[in-house]
Amino acid sequence: MNIAIASGKGGTGKTTIAMSLAACCARNEISAALLDCDVEEPNVNLFLKAEIESTETVNVLIPKVDEPRCTGCGECERICAFNAIVLVKGKPLIFADMCHSCGGCYHVCPERAIEEIEKPIGVIESGTGGGIAFAGGRLSIGEAMSPPLIRAVKRCHPEAETRIIDSPPGTSCPAVEAMRDADFVVLVSEPTPFGLNDLTLAAGAVRALGLPFGVVLNRSDIGGKLILKEYRSRGFEIIASIPHSRAIAEGYSRGDCVSVIIERHRAEIEKIASYAERYNKKGART
Ligand code: SF4
Ligand code: SF4
Repeated sequence: MNIAIASGKGGTGKTTIAMSLAACCARNEISAALLDCDVEEPNVNLFLKAEIESTETVNVLIPKVDEPRCTGCGECERICAFNAIVLVKGKPLIFADMCHSCGGCYHVCPERAIEEIEKPIGVIESGTGGGIAFAGGRLSIGEAMSPPLIRAVKRCHPEAETRIIDSPPGTSCPAVEAMRDADFVVLVSEPTPFGLNDLTLAAGAVRALGLPFGVVLNRSDIGGKLILKEYRSRGFEIIASIPHSRAIAEGYSRGDCVSVIIERHRAEIEKIASYAERYNKKGART
């Protein structure tokens, strides 16, 4: 089962919940993999401290024009939906950062003047820590296209019974790419007006993908009754709640908040796993 842990905004505790869920699986002897798909700001391994056993470079294909063969017909410019090829004085100019590697220009060039070359966009580090398989993507500095790297991370550790995907926050392309094809999505939120607003946006994206989801409230006691009532009135099912705690915050700053959460709130974390298991199996759509 693939469980994506997502949120409408950063700083909700998404990575902490992802790691706690993976740790719970490991303690219950379920083989788990933790996939850090927040490739622009990967931080899972700061906490997991997995021993890295392999590093792989991820490439995408971008076009390169053989100028002597090019007749300046403009077919490549016309097919590119991303304006990544522009004809300047009859010669194609390629903006590699805008290229989505669709291969369209390569296929339409009547002169076979375009070849596809590899461009590295980032790396994937894989290893094991605390009985949990780990893979994390790291996007190269200045690189704009994270979805191909996220897809590559999601292909890692297919042998695990439960694969937990730490998604980027928000509702843009990287977040959608990380959640797409998940069997269940956990949306982590904080009970504040901001949190509710961002959760509503994220839930809209998950519904558009047709995926079942549930909400985990982190620092669940920082909001008042009114805001919790508002969560319920918008139809959000709260599947687990982790209250604010100084011990967790101190653990976070030491880099071992997961052991504190497991010690104090294991039952809540196990609720997430069993809810995902139940609704995944039923194929329910929230
Ligand atoms: S591969 Fe696709 S996105 Fe990239 S330049 Fe060619 S047509 Fe445009
Ligand atoms: S389609 Fe081929 S021949 Fe035509 S402008 Fe582009 S590279 Fe040149």
